[in-house]
Amino acid sequence: MTVTILFAAPEARWADYEAPLHAALRETGLDYRLGLSFPPEEVDYIVYAPESHVQDFTPYTRLKAVLNLWAGVEGVVGNETLKAPLARMVDAEGLTQGMVEYVTGHVMRHHLGMDAQIVNPEHEWDPVMPPLARDRPVTILGLGTLGQACAHALTGIGFPVTGWSRTPKDVSGVTCLHGEDGFRHALEHAQILVLLLPDTPDTADTLDTRAIERMPRGAFVINPGRGALIDDDALLAALDAGEVAHATLDVFRQEPLPKGHPYWAHPCVTVTPHIASETRPPSASRVIAENIRRGEAGKPFLHLVDRDAGY
Ligand code: NDP
Repeated sequence: MTVTILFAAPEARWADYEAPLHAALRETGLDYRLGLSFPPEEVDYIVYAPESHVQDFTPYTRLKAVLNLWAGVEGVVGNETLKAPLARMVDAEGLTQGMVEYVTGHVMRHHLGMDAQIVNPEHEWDPVMPPLARDRPVTILGLGTLGQACAHALTGIGFPVTGWSRTPKDVSGVTCLHGEDGFRHALEHAQILVLLLPDTPDTADTLDTRAIERMPRGAFVINPGRGALIDDDALLAALDAGEVAHATLDVFRQEPLPKGHPYWAHPCVTVTPHIASETRPPSASRVIAENIRRGEAGKPFLHLVDRDAGY
């Protein structure tokens, strides 16, 4: 029987995904049709982005799964009309690799103090030698797909890495902590803090005044996770007071970040416009095709979202 796959993401994305999705789906050997519009009752799978026109899943009566194009699912996980399984994107070749490069690059920038040489208007000869990586503890909040990949890259350079997650983890070469106590310990030595948590009700304002107070004075914050993880007023106050030396922020409560937002003008903030990483159409299409293949073979879907946990 023909498998019907609806592409329900902003239409501009269709140009990027149409050919890679066809290429990946052809590889599965399935008889399929893929398009931007089908009668809802005929649709088996939805390739989805929450910005799509599909917000009510009720008419999709034979839906077998919704395959989210993005890693973050905060825009769909709470949708009560969705009864079918929801899978998120785990795109090792594209998304994960991109995040590893972003995090490693920004960690190295702060670790080496590169800014002092890149912007040096007075041409000062100031031979400050940075410590070796082994003397610069890094903490990653979130030890999932992306957090673990970044942890591996950073331990490979020599950084002592501590990771924090909701449930206990065992990641080679990484000090793994969880729970409330674990959170406090994870912050205590965090000279560089990377946030790679999902946006859920439990993770809102993870980095608030109390959390910042636990960190060493002069720490660096890098947030490619989600804007809601940070209490912005608390971070700005900590930056003003020198408690946090610099924040590199890729994600914000409101995107695009409004022109007048204090982050833009703050000398100790670097704003990157949600470009830490992106799902890459060729590799992401293979992930989606594989999940459809599994669904049609009666096998469990990969990367299923825990609807109760919210990620
Ligand atoms: P995962 O679901 O694989 O990992 C999430 C991690 O966060 C897990 O370790 C999980 O713990 C932990 N976590 C969740 N809730 C809590 C909590 N309440 N307390 C402590 N730890 C918690 O997600 P990914 O690694 O794939 O992605 C992480 C996030 O990165 C995405 O949700 C998205 O928001 C963001 N992202 C940003 C991009 C960008 O360009 N800026 C691009 C892609 C993703 P446990 O292991 O116990 O489940």
